[in-house]
Amino acid sequence: MARIVKKFGGTSVGDMDRIRNVAKRVAKSVEDGNEVAVVVSAMSGVTNQLIGYCQDAATFHDAREYDAVVAAGEQITAGLLAIALQDLGVPARSFMGWQIPLRTDGIHGAARIEEIAPDALEACFKEGRVAVVAGFQGIAGDNRITTLGRGGSDTSAVALAASVSADRCDIYTDVDGVYTTDPRIVPKARKLDKITFEEMLEMASLGAKVLQTRSVALAMKYGVRTQVLSSFEDLPGTLVVGEEEIVEQEVVSGIAYSRGEAKVTIVGLEDSPGKVSGVFSPLAKHNVNVDMIVQSASEDGTATDVTFTVPEDDLQKTVKVLEDNRGSLGFKDLVYNGNVVKVSVVGLGMRSHAGVASKMFDTLADKGINIQVISTSEIKVSVVIDAEYSELAVRALHTAYGLDRQD
Ligand code: ADP
Ligand code: ASP
Ligand code: MG
Repeated sequence: MARIVKKFGGTSVGDMDRIRNVAKRVAKSVEDGNEVAVVVSAMSGVTNQLIGYCQDAATFHDAREYDAVVAAGEQITAGLLAIALQDLGVPARSFMGWQIPLRTDGIHGAARIEEIAPDALEACFKEGRVAVVAGFQGIAGDNRITTLGRGGSDTSAVALAASVSADRCDIYTDVDGVYTTDPRIVPKARKLDKITFEEMLEMASLGAKVLQTRSVALAMKYGVRTQVLSSFEDLPGTLVVGEEEIVEQEVVSGIAYSRGEAKVTIVGLEDSPGKVSGVFSPLAKHNVNVDMIVQSASEDGTATDVTFTVPEDDLQKTVKVLEDNRGSLGFKDLVYNGNVVKVSVVGLGMRSHAGVASKMFDTLADKGINIQVISTSEIKVSVVIDAEYSELAVRALHTAYGLDRQD
């Protein structure tokens, strides 16, 4: 017998037939003698539709009301799955975030979990009842509903698993595991039996949406045994594990890409102390998350160019903040482009192997792809390129690092 938290994503609960399929899987696991709690996402497409309604209602809307609207998708699936389970004779009860309660901070739209009371799930385990929890949502200190950011049901599941010391957190989705890159872009992508927390964290934060970044951070922090697997086929999935469990470490384990990026260049910024700070302090104050930053060497010591990337959704805000400060910053021009993509190679083996970055640059050069910005860390190299080349770049890099499936 094991205590398992199972999470089913949007496609897995996309219509009533699929919800019934999920109910059968859950019922089977209960019959096998396990203690099971379930976390569900909204039906696929529903969250986007709800966000669309908010945008339609008002371009600048109250984030608290946005959360009240977008959290509704998960409420529907939690109730429907509880009904489907009851129909199979499995005792089940739905729970919204506030009924657990799953307490978060007050950052609406991107709230962080602060505390989870284990009592509701423990009581269900004791009574032999399946708790079906609406993912993605929680409750803030002022009793208002919050949401955890896109893809946040993964984080709900891992956090709930940690709160009841579950033996495992199973993340069921529309692919059968974590691949060397998005299998929808590269048909030759290879499924990984295991991936380390560190690599999964990088892959997720660099755009591989198969797991929300924060869910991986929590799994790592609390040692939650997390696996990604298919909700449609009975196939072994991918286990996210500590480094010590990987026998043979690849130099590069995966390629990630992120389309939601924008590049901004401040041309002719005065080359004197305080100017760069004058650019980034107001952006930080406005919660713009700046990613890569490059400052070019000044030719004559009077002016430099500063290029950086921001989430595409924040581009308008970034441009406005910079224009508002143009007087004090005194730059010559502002150039920006939302039509870029960030492509990254990730691998723990990079820590001890040279030449990973140069192979990336050679491969992109061979395909005639221009690199606009570069950044590196211990276990990743990222470049920004024109969005038009994203698939070509991901495929070429996948082959160059020997990741293609052999069959
Ligand atoms: P869910 O609705 O179940 O949460 P998501 O759409 O959030 O599912 O995440 C699953 C998707 O992640 C897959 O359909 C796949 O296209 C994408 N993906 C991106 N990178 C990877 C990767 N390296 N391995 C597997 N899937 C990936
Ligand atoms: N339904 C939410 C989203 O689409 C949360 C999730 O699916 O994990 O982002
Ligand atoms: Mg997801």
